[in-house]
Amino acid sequence: MTSADPTDRRDGTGAGAARAGRYLDVPLWPWPRPLDGQQHLPGTCPAGHRLRPGSLQETPNQDYGTRELVCLWCENQPDRGGRWALVDTSITAQVTEAEVQQRRLQLVVVPPPVRAGAGQIQLRWGATIYGHVELSLCPVDRRGLLLGLHVEPRHRRRGVGRVLARAAAARGGGFSWSANPPDEADAAAFWARVGAPRAPASPCSHQEAVGLRIEPRWPKWW
Ligand SMILES: [Zn+2]
Ligand SMILES: [Zn+2]
Repeated sequence: MTSADPTDRRDGTGAGAARAGRYLDVPLWPWPRPLDGQQHLPGTCPAGHRLRPGSLQETPNQDYGTRELVCLWCENQPDRGGRWALVDTSITAQVTEAEVQQRRLQLVVVPPPVRAGAGQIQLRWGATIYGHVELSLCPVDRRGLLLGLHVEPRHRRRGVGRVLARAAAARGGGFSWSANPPDEADAAAFWARVGAPRAPASPCSHQEAVGLRIEPRWPKWW
C-alpha cells in the first residue's frame, strides 16, 4: 500500500479504526521485552512521568497489533496524547519477509546479499513500509555501520526513526559502530537525540571489500 490517499490509514473494519481521529497515528515507543518474556513496563513515560500502578494502563493496540502504554498523567493534559504503541525492538521480535503479518506493526529484516554487505531493517504494517534503516554488520570484526535511515514523510514525527535506530543497535549489540553523517538537518537532530554512534571508526576489511564507505564529513553537523 503506497498510495498517497490519506484514507489508506484506516484499516477500515477493526474496532481500532472506529476510534475517531486515531487510525494509525498513535506514536511509537521502542520497548524491548526481556528474553524470559517476563512482563515489565517502562519506569517512566516518554514525557518523563514516573509510572506507578494507578498512573498507567496497558491495553492492546488493535491498529498495530502491539501493546499500548497509557500514561494517565499525560492523558489529563489536553494537548498531549499520553498513548504510545510499544514496539519490541529486540532481535527475537524482528521477523523475516515470510513471517510478515497483515495489520500488525513489525520490524522486518532484509538480510544483506553477501556477508558484511548492506542489509535493511524495515518497520512495516503489512505491506506498508513506514521507514527503514540500512546497516552492515561484520560478525568477524564485530563492526557495525549505520549507513542510512529513512522515514516516509507521512509517517514522520511519531517515533519511527527511534524504533529503527534501536532495532539496529539491538542487532549489533556489543559491536563497534560507526555511522554515515545524516543528510538533513532534521536527521542530525534526530541522531543527536538517540545517541547515534559518531565517526570516525572505519569499515573493516570485509566491509571495504563489498564497497562500503563511511563519509568523513561529520564535524560540520556538531
Ligand atoms: Zn506521562
Ligand atoms: Zn570484517
